[in-house]
Amino acid sequence: MSNLKHVAVVGATGAVGVEMLRCLEQRGFPVGQLTLLASARSAGKKMKFKGEDVTIQELTPESFAGVEIALFSAGGSISRDFAPHAVKAGAVVVDNSSFYRMDPKVPLVVPEINAADVKGHQGIIANPNCTTAISLMALYPLHQAFGVKRIFASSYQAVSGTGAQAIEELAKQTREWAAENRAWDAAKLASQPHVYPHQIAFNAIPHVDSFLDSGYTKEEMKMENEGRKIMHHPGFRASVTCVRIPVFRAHSIAISAEFEKPVDLAQARAVLASAPGLDVIDDPASKHYPLALDIAGRDNCAVGRLRLDCALDNGLAFWVVGDQLLKGAALNAVQIAECLL
Ligand code: NAP
Repeated sequence: MSNLKHVAVVGATGAVGVEMLRCLEQRGFPVGQLTLLASARSAGKKMKFKGEDVTIQELTPESFAGVEIALFSAGGSISRDFAPHAVKAGAVVVDNSSFYRMDPKVPLVVPEINAADVKGHQGIIANPNCTTAISLMALYPLHQAFGVKRIFASSYQAVSGTGAQAIEELAKQTREWAAENRAWDAAKLASQPHVYPHQIAFNAIPHVDSFLDSGYTKEEMKMENEGRKIMHHPGFRASVTCVRIPVFRAHSIAISAEFEKPVDLAQARAVLASAPGLDVIDDPASKHYPLALDIAGRDNCAVGRLRLDCALDNGLAFWVVGDQLLKGAALNAVQIAECLL
């Protein structure tokens, strides 16, 4: 491998793919050649990288000749069907979908937590669920200090977490409400939703991903399952309710965590302040706490509203916010690729 890499981005036109290009460019990733892949719908269109036009190609099994690093972000079935072709062609795949995450042969990596796991890869490395990655940016340093036993959490998830069509759905519904000059108490629109099961504008939908027999959703169980794998903590337990809200960008998670050791608030604050990739914004008296609108577009996640949990022994309650297109997807994937250099 030369110093400059032949990088492919699969799903380049998507909400995550666009951010991947930006991260590769902004972080100065040593890209020698760039192959942009998407569906036949996008083939022939151009995207800019470092000021140059790059033509998008249709993804086929033959797309990976000469590719050294392939960043996949086009959904689970595309990863299932095409990642093996990329690996066969000699590329290392960093996959954003959930398809390979719990495969014991596939490392699941947040570089600030378990970068060393990258070494064990057999061609595919998985990027974690966005809500899980953002939560662990704050939870893992606390775990190192106090030993986490279990968490109770609720997420407030942005529509860009569902992709480009969901962003358009929220924008369209909001415009419809304004154009019809509706009153605040007439917010239920006549138009039918397409992406979500219910209107997302002016709403909160406690339904992210599909439901399991247990009553939890798949998204909710990712926190426990992926959290165990990333933290190397098989006893970790998580009871989560995931909620989609009409925010365009950045997920927020309210977490109550119970630890083995007693939690000292000043120590917790110090641990979080020195954690990589995390800012502490915690001055409620001055109305300073992490907000989705402020964290959108930023690489670092942020934590605030720190307080001893009044209902748990050895408990800490906190609020963590992260741009799920960045730390929850594109940035984390490029950081994993940097571990390969
Ligand atoms: P998106 O905006 O809907 O983009 C989907 C991308 O996949 C587009 O580039 C699309 O290309 C491409 N694609 C669809 N069908 C294809 C096909 N048959 N062959 C080749 N390419 C195809 O979705 P997204 O939000 O970027 O998410 C992409 C993946 O990242 C998903 O697996 C998702 O679970 C994961 N992820 C997303 C986030 C997030 O915050 N959005 C976070 C973590 C992980 P066209 O434009 O040509 O249709």
